[in-house]
Amino acid sequence: MRRKMVAGNWKMYGRRASARILAREIEDGLPAVLPIDVLVCPPAIYLEAIKGVLGESARVMLGAQDLCAQGEDGARTGEISGAMLLDTGVSHVLVGHSERRQLLGETNESVGAKLVAALDAGLIPILCVGETLAEREGLRTEAVVVTQLQAVVNVAGNDAFARCIVAYEPVWAIGTGRNATPDQAQAVHGFIRSWVAEQTDQEIADDLRILYGGSVKPDNAAALFAMPDVDGGLVGGASLKASDFIAICRMAGETARAGT
Ligand code: PEP
Repeated sequence: MRRKMVAGNWKMYGRRASARILAREIEDGLPAVLPIDVLVCPPAIYLEAIKGVLGESARVMLGAQDLCAQGEDGARTGEISGAMLLDTGVSHVLVGHSERRQLLGETNESVGAKLVAALDAGLIPILCVGETLAEREGLRTEAVVVTQLQAVVNVAGNDAFARCIVAYEPVWAIGTGRNATPDQAQAVHGFIRSWVAEQTDQEIADDLRILYGGSVKPDNAAALFAMPDVDGGLVGGASLKASDFIAICRMAGETARAGT
């Protein structure tokens, strides 16, 4: 049975004080027992501060938003390696977020290299894939997602899917307030799982967690998380407000308890 996860992507928002308050509110506001994994991904410069707030919290894990594709220490001014993230208490790292693909020049190839670097460092990568609106309207969603997944297989091998999490994030739904419908999300999640089963085997595909991301809010999370192949959410905007993020986590917990 796949364990649901809710991951908060804080993007480039907040300051040290507000980030610490947000982490404290989330940690204090979550139910003592929740049958899901909860992750927050603050800006890299505040990882250490948030680690300080969360301490050894078993309820909230720490994620990073990016890492350097080069694993070894070296001359990479401004970069942060997977080993450095691990050393700071990070367990997961987003790889290939669409904002980085669209605005910061990341390619399928660089995303693949980063995923390998994350695995080599002992981090769990959350591989973000998803199509633009033009690609969806051109009926190219599946082809785009396969290209993004295949780029990872090319460098990391099929086994990568046994060690990573996939986040399906349609670009047209990120930060727009327009989420995919539960049926639209399920269709792509189901497709990804079948594709992974064809590339690897059914067991790896069945165990692969596939999160949905794109305007997840308290009022749509329950319906999305109830879909059979939606294993939780990658949440941007709504993760910046503790009460919304906690509400979304509670809904994931309820769907997990209901066995969906
Ligand atoms: C994201 O940043 O990955 C995201 C899904 O953002 P939002 O929830 O704001 O659409």
